[in-house]
Formats: sequence, C-alpha cells, structure tokens
Amino acid sequence: MASGTLHDAFVDELKDSYDSEKQLIKALKKMAKAAKHDELRSAFDTHRKETEGQVERLEQVFALLDEKVKGKHCDGIAGIIEEGSSVMDEDFDDATMNACLIASGQRAEHYEMAAYGTLVAWARILGHDEAADLLQQTLDEEKAADEKLSSLAESGINEDAASSATDDDEDLSEDAAAPPSKKSPKHGARPRVASAAPGRSARPRS
Ligand code: FE
Ligand code: ZN
Ligand code: FE
Repeated sequence: MASGTLHDAFVDELKDSYDSEKQLIKALKKMAKAAKHDELRSAFDTHRKETEGQVERLEQVFALLDEKVKGKHCDGIAGIIEEGSSVMDEDFDDATMNACLIASGQRAEHYEMAAYGTLVAWARILGHDEAADLLQQTLDEEKAADEKLSSLAESGINEDAASSATDDDEDLSEDAAAPPSKKSPKHGARPRVASAAPGRSARPRS
C-alpha cells in the first residue's frame, strides 16, 4: 500500500521551489541585463535580491521541519526560463524587448504564486504555522513583483512597444488605406498622446 503523505508532498514541493528560486536568480540577472529601460532593469535587480532572501527563507522552512536543505530540479520553471531566453535571442526592437521581458517575467511570477499559494495552504493544514508565515511572506513578494511588472507595462512600456509597431504599420500601409480606428489602443489603459509618436524612441527612458 502507498505510504506517501501530504507531508512528503509538501517537502517535495519545497525542494522544487528551492531549485526554482535558484534558477530564477540566474534568469533575473540575464533579464536585468537585457532590459533597455532603467526602471524595468531595477525591478528585475530588486526582485533578484528578494529572491536571494526567498532562498534563505526556504532554508529556514527546511530547518523548522527538521529536513535537510535540498533542491529538486524544477522542470516547470526551467521551461518558462527557456521560453524567456529564446525571446531574448529574437531580433526585437528595444521597446518590444522590454514588453517581452515583462511577459516572461510575469509567467515566472504567476508560476511561483501558484506554487507558494499551495505551499502556504499545505503548511497551514499540516499545522506548520511558522513555516506558513515564512512562505506567505514570499508569496506576497511574488505578488508584488507581478504587480510591479504590470504597472511598468501599463505606464509606458507597452505603449512604446505598440507605437514602434504603429510606425511599421504606417510604412507598410501607406497605400493600403487602413482605417484610422486600427491605430486606437485596444486595451487602452492610457490615452495615446498623438503628438508623441514620432519622437518616442528618442525619449529619455526613466
Ligand atoms: Fe521567487
Ligand atoms: Zn516545479
Ligand atoms: Fe519571483
């Protein structure tokens, strides 16, 4: 008869997350390097430092459970990182690259939010309240990192990427008579500033 318990599954998931965080420390370094936007770069750098703290927090959790600190290869995050790094190899313009880095980063954060959501719930149900509190702190950091990336996307990065695409559309559609509505933002979080479009790429990046 099978004898693995929820506690065993919990410890397995902790090992998975421990490995996942270590993979992400390396990935976040590369993403910061690839970012062509100061605030985005510093968001990746800040979250990399937080991630180092998350590794330490997991070490504390292992200690609380009297378990050896150990990682177990996380295939899920490896796949997400792999997709992100193939995007970095693409020949995208700077603004599009920034938008793509946010997209990859958010996939990773959501994966982590799912993992830590489960870990917190399992820690609680198993009566490991101190571990649950530590894991909750990490979950909160992952959520905040995700929100930071959303707010960067919505405060100009997506718009910059879309307007470099619009510039291309204009070149291509000069005699195609594209309806003007085509250029209105579809998910417009912000109204487009019409006069800003031609010079946008020369704008100092904050
Ligand atoms: Fe993390
Ligand atoms: Zn995993
Ligand atoms: Fe994270």
